[in-house]
Amino acid sequence: MKTLEEIFCRQPETLNEALTLLSDEATRGVLLSGGTDLVVQWQAGAVPMPEQVIDLSAVPELKEISAQDGCLRIGACVTHAAIRNHALTREALPALVAACASIGARQIQSRGTLGGNVANASPAGDASPALLVADARVVTASLAGERCIPMNEFLLDYRKIDRHPDELILRFELTPCPQGGIERFCKIGTRGAQAISKVMGACRVVMHGKDIQHMALALGSVAATAIRLPETEKLLAGKTLCEELVDEAEACVLREVHPIADIRSTAEYRRWVSGRIVRGFLESL
Ligand SMILES: Cc1cc2nc3c(=O)[nH]c(=O)nc-3n(C[C@H](O)[C@H](O)[C@H](O)COP(=O)(O)OP(=O)(O)OC[C@H]3O[C@@H](n4cnc5c(N)ncnc54)[C@H](O)[C@@H]3O)c2cc1C
Repeated sequence: MKTLEEIFCRQPETLNEALTLLSDEATRGVLLSGGTDLVVQWQAGAVPMPEQVIDLSAVPELKEISAQDGCLRIGACVTHAAIRNHALTREALPALVAACASIGARQIQSRGTLGGNVANASPAGDASPALLVADARVVTASLAGERCIPMNEFLLDYRKIDRHPDELILRFELTPCPQGGIERFCKIGTRGAQAISKVMGACRVVMHGKDIQHMALALGSVAATAIRLPETEKLLAGKTLCEELVDEAEACVLREVHPIADIRSTAEYRRWVSGRIVRGFLESL
């Protein structure tokens, strides 16, 4: 088996160069962004060490945050630290900012990227629920062109995303939280920091007084991928917030999620916590 030093690593400096490498099976390598998932997996022997790697960290287009056509564009190689600190994301995507601030510690946030978090396709990837409530689209690119895929369709299954072998994730396009809108993020792990989530969730809400005009809810680590909660959203949208409604919403979440047990948690705990997270969101409004 190869050692880390023996892997053949290319570092394209333009998008076209990266896509050209990906287009040819002979030069196609495993995509590397911050390496905080991949290198750990290689060293633990969880996935085999690849023959070659394409390090995307020098491609400028992948590292941009901008506002365009009413949406926020975040390049795949933008780090969690950059999302935490950027004025545009802080203003328009508070749940995503909070999610990125909960990932690992500062060192991991400085290297780990949004694209890596999503492409790793773990149900415990903390960014996904916040992306789902912002109706994110994933834009992939290959030499053949771009594809724009809704985030909920991009996450196909456990550790599976809708990426073709000659494609990379170029950027995410997110709808900003509307003026007066509220976003929350909540993560439950074994401890307050440096913990992989047992369950995490995000919401985006627009209220008029106590009336709920818009409700988007998403949870992670309760299914094979992060999920929206359409039944609970439907129950809440258009209603007036009151204690009974909060009770009903919590009960609805318990019916809607069907988590599994694994080394991090039991299924029963995950289900109970899911309801409590949504209750917490509603009680904070
Ligand atoms: C100590 C530690 C703590 C951590 N804590 C957390 C945590 O609290 N929450 C959490 O969610 N994660 C956590 N992680 C996991 C990891 O840091 C994050 O998932 C991070 O966002 C991964 O990004 P990366 O750039 O390092 O990905 P990489 O390791 O570079 O890549 C991950 C995957 O994405 C693919 N990929 C990368 N870029 C692209 C692209 N542009 N297009 C297509 N595929 C691509 C790679 O091929 C690989 O399959 C932790 C990791 C460590 C080591």
